[in-house]
Amino acid sequence: MTNRSPILPPAWLGILGGGQLGRMFIHEAQSLGYKVCVLDPDPLSPGGAVAEKHLCADYGDEKALSEMANLCAAVSTEFENVPAKTLDYFQDKGIFVAPMGQCVSIAQDRVLEKEFLQQCALSSGIGPVPYCVIQSQDDLSIVPSQLFPGILKTARMGYDGKGQTNVANANELALAWQEFSRDVCVFEKKMPLAFEVSALVVRAHDGESTAYPIAENVHRNGILHTSTVPSPSLAKHPELSKKIIAASFEIAKKMGYVGVLCVEYFVLTDGSVVVNEIAPRPHNSGHYTMDACVTSQFEQQVRAMVRLPLGDVTLMEPVAMLNILGDVWFDQNQVIEPAWHHVLAHPSAKLHLYGKATPKIGRKMGHINCLGKGIQEAKDACTAVAHDLGIAP
Ligand code: ADP
Ligand code: MG
Repeated sequence: MTNRSPILPPAWLGILGGGQLGRMFIHEAQSLGYKVCVLDPDPLSPGGAVAEKHLCADYGDEKALSEMANLCAAVSTEFENVPAKTLDYFQDKGIFVAPMGQCVSIAQDRVLEKEFLQQCALSSGIGPVPYCVIQSQDDLSIVPSQLFPGILKTARMGYDGKGQTNVANANELALAWQEFSRDVCVFEKKMPLAFEVSALVVRAHDGESTAYPIAENVHRNGILHTSTVPSPSLAKHPELSKKIIAASFEIAKKMGYVGVLCVEYFVLTDGSVVVNEIAPRPHNSGHYTMDACVTSQFEQQVRAMVRLPLGDVTLMEPVAMLNILGDVWFDQNQVIEPAWHHVLAHPSAKLHLYGKATPKIGRKMGHINCLGKGIQEAKDACTAVAHDLGIAP
């Protein structure tokens, strides 16, 4: 029988990956009284700077894995590209792993992910975008014409719009696949989006589940730009919101998932909805929970992995989150420090910087949660803050 008792502080917890998601997870784990060991090959990782212990090694490094296994009572991951084998390693040693390797392996491969989402559609009523798999020259010649214009996406290792390209016709598709080194890809129809939303659900070891309010997301160049909660566009469609939450619970349940799971959806111009992808971890579109909800998504991830009861997901105030990319550190060709004092002159703006040493164009450096008495007030604060940072409206 599996052990169902909670893991109490001051136990050690392990986190695979020390990017910003790892760092914010570590902060929450520490404030609950846990100690954290992070595995990340980058000596300057944001998580490594704040954890009690940083194992600076690759995700398959046996010595590091064994050290983490000896120290930690439970292990989680901050990103889906960690080898699923690594998660299995801990599970085989009887360490509680949330989410499990089998869930992460579905989310890290777009082919498995789409197949899984298609299965879920039978009961949830929300299917994935029309697509096909490209893994051989022959597959190129049987692509249904109705998938054009479309988007070619590498099956593995894509994020923030990387590893994907727009394709207008069969010739472009063949060229694009060459560009991706003929790796396994999915080819999706480019959908007419009315708006994008994401559902953030949390599932405990005993199946108890809860869902945060749905976020409405705006992307720029494939990278999340803002998330607004409650979703202004869904306000007129309560039935759609219910359907999206129910489908997200169904996905988590079918996977036997434990932890925080984000599910991205496209609402189309004809009012229908399709599921885009899943992220087996806290998500950028859930950063608003840090200041606007009773319990943040990172605290929930800790609670789920130590088998504590889940926290309250109530939204205390409307919120608009603005992502801060490295772009705002560049003025012409000069590297500058952005005017944080102007940002913080907006009393409802909550600044979160990830402690990354080198700003780069397109690199996620932080985010700002702008609270408001109503959605419009939150959005106005977000617009004002973006303006202060020189971010184009
Ligand atoms: P990533 O893993 O980089 O987040 P996504 O598949 O979520 O990749 O794509 C990033 C963004 O690109 C989406 O949020 C959406 O704005 C746009 N996009 C992706 N796929 C489609 C599609 N099939 N039709 C229309 N827009 C899409
Ligand atoms: Mg996405």
